[in-house]
Amino acid sequence: MKMENNKKLGFGLMRLPQLEEGRIDVEQVKEMVDLFMASGHTYFDTAFAYPGSEEAIKEALVKRYPRDSYTLATKLMVQPTGVDEEQAKAEIKTSLERAGVEYFDYYLVHAVQRSNYKKYEEYGIWDYVKELKAKGIVKHIGFSFHADPELLKELLDKHSEVEFVQLQLNYADWDNPGVQSKNNLEICKAYGKMVTVMEPVKGGILADPIDTVKAIFDEEQNGMSYSSWAIRFAASQDNILVVLSGMSNVEQMKDNLSYMTDFKPLSEHEMEVIKKAQKAIAENKAIPCTGCRYCVEGCPMNIPIPDIFAVENRKAGSPKFRTQREYSIVTAGKGKASFCIQCGQCEDACPQHLPVVELIDRCRELE
Ligand code: SF4
Ligand code: SF4
Repeated sequence: MKMENNKKLGFGLMRLPQLEEGRIDVEQVKEMVDLFMASGHTYFDTAFAYPGSEEAIKEALVKRYPRDSYTLATKLMVQPTGVDEEQAKAEIKTSLERAGVEYFDYYLVHAVQRSNYKKYEEYGIWDYVKELKAKGIVKHIGFSFHADPELLKELLDKHSEVEFVQLQLNYADWDNPGVQSKNNLEICKAYGKMVTVMEPVKGGILADPIDTVKAIFDEEQNGMSYSSWAIRFAASQDNILVVLSGMSNVEQMKDNLSYMTDFKPLSEHEMEVIKKAQKAIAENKAIPCTGCRYCVEGCPMNIPIPDIFAVENRKAGSPKFRTQREYSIVTAGKGKASFCIQCGQCEDACPQHLPVVELIDRCRELE
């Protein structure tokens, strides 16, 4: 598998703009799609598990552009929704219908990690996606991965048919022992697998980083956004097919395109600046939650875990932040940190391997 063109930005469809809770702003997505396509970019990444995303891209892209002018990726998921084998294998049919396409260019086994990889084996999903490829229903097969290099090697040894791997890769997680961006990338390179990058901005955290990191980038006075450092860092690595940016509005799309349409890798000096930012992050105590919300569905106490973590982080990073007011807003009608019964479901679901129970306990202080 090789790069389709020189454009390294992918449109991640996980955090699309919403008009209200749960209803995607399709008109704004259309505008974003038009800007993206006009810049020469073509890679779109959705998933069966992203609510409303496949349907939205049908309206904003599939119905409006020739099928061979873009590439579309989606994913098959067994967790955290707890689907059985039959349901997992039926997902492709639903995805095709929702997106209004006859094939997907890329099909990924979704969010493989220590807590679920055996389930993918047990259900025969790897053979199943191979069959889909043989039938032409999907063109390329891969998996998105959230675990350690040992498991990555094991999977690539067992499943040589896999053509690419989607990795969480950003400058903050480069040496993070829970994520191991750098080591996992090295393994993909050694196995000759292309990499699609997810979470280059770490769920938005690096778009609005802690004050010490902001100061490091501000000193450079290059007039570019904080996100630009993160996305260009990911795109500057070897073996990258695309860097998926989960853009949520037209402004973010315009910002991303401003430096990715004519992409230039980070210079040596810029890499040194990134190293300083990495050091500042390592010294900070913020909770590295990406806001993916995989932990929320299974929480028996309906605790809005990532929203509480966001309040805790803002409190630590900005002295003027109105902590109690924000905490009351995010927990209104939901569980508070003190409701936690320590069942541990959230930790099994967390692709960042965060000690959620311990961290939620720390957040009781916000009440
Ligand atoms: S351990 Fe606490 S926060 Fe986590 S799922 Fe259970 S009740 Fe919810
Ligand atoms: S705690 Fe983990 S699973 Fe939950 S939103 Fe944050 S990163 Fe995602």
